[in-house]
Amino acid sequence: MLRGEWRDTVAREGLPDVEMDESGEEPPCPACGTAAPLVDGACSDCGLALG
Ligand SMILES: [Zn+2]
Repeated sequence: MLRGEWRDTVAREGLPDVEMDESGEEPPCPACGTAAPLVDGACSDCGLALG
């Protein structure tokens, strides 16, 4: 039986090798233009709520 081989194939080919990178692009703040990660859903520079 080839159950082990089948499972190994699914394990290798069943899942796309894609990594989600959510920290690569930060939209600039419409108020001050700062393109930095939000702090508690608000701009870290001027404090405008963006979340
Ligand atoms: Zn801002």
